[in-house]
Amino acid sequence: MTNVADRIWQHASERPDAIALRLGDEQITYGDLVRRSAVFGGYLAESGVAVGDRVVLVAPTVPEFVIAYLGAHVIGAVAIPVNTMATAPEIGYVLDDSGARYAIAWHLARAGAEQAAVQRGIPLLVLEPGAPTDPAAPVNEPMPRDPDDTAIMLYTSGTTGKPKGVELTVSNLNETARIFIDQLQLTPEERFGTGLPLFHVYGQAVCLITTLHAGSSFSMVSPFEPAAMIETIRDHRLTVVSGVPTMWNAMLHAAGDYGPEDFTSLRLAASGGASLPAEVVRAFSQRFGCTILEGYGLTESSGAATYNPLDREQRIGSVGTALPGTSIAARDPNGEALPTDTVGELYIRGPSIMKGYWNRPEATAADLADGWLRTGDLGKVDADGYVYIVDRVKDLIIRGGYNIYPREVEEVLYEHPDIVEVAVIGIPDDHYGEEVGAVVATAPGANLDPAELRAWAKARLSAYKVPHRFAFTDQLPKGATGKVLKRSLHLNLFTDKA
Ligand code: ATP
Repeated sequence: MTNVADRIWQHASERPDAIALRLGDEQITYGDLVRRSAVFGGYLAESGVAVGDRVVLVAPTVPEFVIAYLGAHVIGAVAIPVNTMATAPEIGYVLDDSGARYAIAWHLARAGAEQAAVQRGIPLLVLEPGAPTDPAAPVNEPMPRDPDDTAIMLYTSGTTGKPKGVELTVSNLNETARIFIDQLQLTPEERFGTGLPLFHVYGQAVCLITTLHAGSSFSMVSPFEPAAMIETIRDHRLTVVSGVPTMWNAMLHAAGDYGPEDFTSLRLAASGGASLPAEVVRAFSQRFGCTILEGYGLTESSGAATYNPLDREQRIGSVGTALPGTSIAARDPNGEALPTDTVGELYIRGPSIMKGYWNRPEATAADLADGWLRTGDLGKVDADGYVYIVDRVKDLIIRGGYNIYPREVEEVLYEHPDIVEVAVIGIPDDHYGEEVGAVVATAPGANLDPAELRAWAKARLSAYKVPHRFAFTDQLPKGATGKVLKRSLHLNLFTDKA
C-alpha cells in the first residue's frame, strides 16, 4: 500500500458505519468520508488537476478540509494546506513558489485566496459546507504512488528567510502514522480529539492521518477554546487528546469545579510543539486525572522525532527518546558529534525526515546532509537516549558572555501561582549585549510587581539568569497552533526603567 488514503479506504470497506470525524454534533462515517473524498478527487481530476500538481488549500478545521485534502491525495495531487489567517500576498507567495495549478478556499476564509488566485489566473474552488456539491465521477480507489513521491507541502519560515515548502513524502506520512499508532497503542475504538489547526503538521500528520490510519474517530474543536475542548472531552468521551502547552494551560484555567471524576474516559494527553512546563504536567494530571506525554518534532520531520511511550519511565524535562528507526544527536557548531549530556544543536535522521525544500537545493543541502536534518534546536541526549530540548538556537540569550536558556527561566516563573503565561526574551543592552526580559500574563486580579518576581526568580536561579526587566500583559501573542510567538513580542512592552 502506498497512497496515504489507502488505509482509510480499507477502514471504509471493513467498517463503513464507524465514525471517522466529529465536529460538535456533526458526525461523518468512514463510508461517507471515502465516498465524498472520492467525488472530490474526481472533481479535481475533471478540473484538470493531474498527478503531482500542487493544490493550495485554505480552510479551517472542518470536515470539508479533510474531504478536500483526501480528494487531492486519492488522485496523487500534492496538497498544500495554508494558514487561514494568511493574507493575499502570503497566499500569492505560496501559489507562485509552489507553481500551484489550483486553489481551494473555505467560503468564510476565501478573500485572500480569491484575490491571489484571480491575480494569477489560477482556478479557485470555493469550499462550502457539505462539499462536494458538484457531481463528478468518483475515483474508484486511491492512485498507487511511490513511497518517495511528494504527498504534501507545508510552508515554514524555519530559522531564516522566506517561507520554504517542506516536501513530505507518501512514506513520511505513512511511516509517521504507523509509528504513532504503535507508540500510543491506538485501536479503532479510540476517540481522539484536538483543537490544533489541520493546516499545521502537528494537527495534520501526527493527529489526523494517524487517527484515520488507526480507524479511530477524530473530534475537532475549532477554533480551540478551552471550555469547548473540555466539553468535547466529556460529550465525545475522548480517550486521547493532543495539543500544545498553551492549550493545557488554558484548559487548567477554564476547568472550574471539574475534577478527574469528570474525565474518566481520558487515558492520555499528548503534547508537543513547544516546551511543556513541569508545573503544567503536575497540575493537569491532578485536575484531569491523566498524564501528559511530551513529544518533539518539527515540520521538516513530519511533526515527529521523539516520544514518551506509555510503558516506559518518564524523565522530567525530557521529550522522551527517538522514535523507532529515528536517530538524534547533538553536534557542535562545526557539525562534530558531542558526547552524551552535552548541549549542542540537535540533528535527526529517520523515516519521518522530509525529502527537502521545494525548489531550494542550497537550503536543502544546508539543512539536510547525509539524511541528517539540522533542527535549529539546542538540546542534549543522555546516556539512555532521553532527549532534552534546551531551547531554540535563535532564542538563546547571551548576557555578558554567559548563555542563558529562556526556557529554564520560564520554568521557574511558571511555578509562581499568579503567573498564567510567560515568555523570556533577550533585550539589547549596552553593557551586557543582551539582558533578560520577561513578558508576563497574570491571573485575573493579581497585582504583581517586578521586585517581587525578581526575588522569586533570585531564590531559584543563578543571579545572571534573573530577569532584569518585566513587562505585563493580558495574553501573550500566539501563532495558529497556539504556540507563543516570541518574535512578535515587542520591546516597547517594557515600560519599566532599564
Ligand atoms: P515556523 O518555522 O513556521 O516559523 P516553527 O519554527 O514553530 O514555525 P514548526 O515546525 O512549527 O516550526 O515547529 C518546530 C519547532 O517547535 C521545533 O524546532 C522546536 O523548536 C519546537 N518544539 C516542538 N516540540 C517541542 C517540545 N516538545 N519542546 C520544545 N520545543 C519544541
